[in-house]
Amino acid sequence: MKLGNYVAGEWREGTGAGEPLVDPVTGDELARISSQGIDVRAALEFARSQGGPALRELSYAQRAELLAKIGDILTANRDEYFRLSLLNLGATQADASFDVDGAIYTMKYYAKIGRALAEGKMLKEGAVVPLSKSNAFVGQHFLMPAKGAAVFINAFNFPAWGSCEKAAPALLSGVPIVVKPASPTAWLTQRMVEDVVKANILPPGAISIICGGARDLLDHVREEDVVSFTGSAETAARIRSQANVLRRSVRVNIEADSINSAIFGPDCAPGSELFELLVKEVVREMTLKAGQKCTTIRRVMVPRQQLKAFGDAVAARLSSVKVGNPRNSEVRMGPVVNKAQQAACLEGLKKLKEECSVVFGNDGKFQPIDADLQKSAFVPPTLFSCEHGLVAKHVHDVEVFGPAATLVAYDAHEDLIAITRRGLGSLVASVFSNDPEFIQSIVLGTGDLHGRILVVDSTVSGQHTGHGNVVPSCLHGGPGRAGGGEELGGLRGLLLYHRRFVVQGPAASISALSELCADSSLLYA
Ligand code: NAP
Repeated sequence: MKLGNYVAGEWREGTGAGEPLVDPVTGDELARISSQGIDVRAALEFARSQGGPALRELSYAQRAELLAKIGDILTANRDEYFRLSLLNLGATQADASFDVDGAIYTMKYYAKIGRALAEGKMLKEGAVVPLSKSNAFVGQHFLMPAKGAAVFINAFNFPAWGSCEKAAPALLSGVPIVVKPASPTAWLTQRMVEDVVKANILPPGAISIICGGARDLLDHVREEDVVSFTGSAETAARIRSQANVLRRSVRVNIEADSINSAIFGPDCAPGSELFELLVKEVVREMTLKAGQKCTTIRRVMVPRQQLKAFGDAVAARLSSVKVGNPRNSEVRMGPVVNKAQQAACLEGLKKLKEECSVVFGNDGKFQPIDADLQKSAFVPPTLFSCEHGLVAKHVHDVEVFGPAATLVAYDAHEDLIAITRRGLGSLVASVFSNDPEFIQSIVLGTGDLHGRILVVDSTVSGQHTGHGNVVPSCLHGGPGRAGGGEELGGLRGLLLYHRRFVVQGPAASISALSELCADSSLLYA
């Protein structure tokens, strides 16, 4: 079976043998995809010329209604998405829920908050700027929806959420979307698009999907398009420096990989509530989606005197996590997505072992439940410990995109800040402490290199949203190595799909233009 591409308002099958999609538990081939022979230039042109104008005929509030309908369709097909997640990603119920329910929630969230923008055709930003003595001549800044296409190049680990977290703000902005899911897990995204197309919710050209290699896609993007990429830092660098993208100054948003940290405060003793909470969080982060989340905790900074106790507690919990075929109801952690990812993880573990000691796993005894070790793509959960965080290299640099984390000892407070900053830009750091001064110093010392800082103290206890959980109401993205992108953040997420410009002119014309607008201050409400 070859999955179709939906371009220029039609389903088209790619030519050639295509690439196989496999079950990471059994190694069986499930389907094939191919983008060969698909005219991506025409697909983009159709999106710009048909989908965009039809979407922008509608108001923000009307487009919010479309998102609500998409949310309903996705909800109605949720069971099927769980089935595909199991087949193509080896996802447990919890893994599938994180991706699929996260996608549905995000779509419905934008449907709800988008209504506030009401009837505006664009957004008015800030107050009128006086430019003449009599105020007859003034300036006004506006934000206008881009008249191009939004091109999404996505990572393999979130085929549902990764597409919806980009689609919701783009469609709400009035920008048609062209989705290119990562090849290994394209099936789930393709099925979701198929369901939305079948339900006839969006105007022709508002949604397209290309399954398989990106081929010459970026050669055809234009000045008015937006490219939103999620994936590895290596691919990000290629996309950012692509000749056509550079020549036309195409707007590019990058969400790349990240060596995220969790910091355990010196004020919390072993056995305390925060100690237990962080131990639980580290194990959850390592095992949920087999550690294949961009936000997963990769480094845990622990006061040196508590390193042993913390490692023992995490190891004890890890030892009770059943790893294997998610079809077995006892299993809590599945495989990574394919053999290539497995090989990359094992290579990364080898590097980390060069400068760390092993606290859990990596003992050659691993055997997944109900799965053949040779055919499947499992990576054993592995916890390392690093005594010399200031001089270590790989710990701050090698992203094992799987179930692995490293405990890093710290002594002085300045060292902790320096060690944390060695991530060179991350999506998230979390701080577990009851000491307000310590928390403040971490935020002030590391905030510029993080997209999000999660603080947990005893007043919050277990009510926090989770280190790795991206909520649509808050910013997602991070500087430096994390790509420098910004997504979500409630209606702020629409900024990526709008262009800022200023009109300088007669006060009466400016006033008339302003009448057509929703107020951009709503983006920050
Ligand atoms: P990847 O290998 O970089 O691929 C990402 C996407 O780029 C895929 O759709 C891939 O297509 C496409 N691609 C590859 N080369 C391309 C090129 N020359 N031009 C245009 N597109 C190209 O990343 P991945 O292995 O799928 O994802 C894992 C990585 O993503 C991890 O490092 C993780 O940290 C990161 N990630 C980050 C976030 C975040 O929000 N910051 C979220 C999730 C994952 P093919 O699959 O067809 O090659």
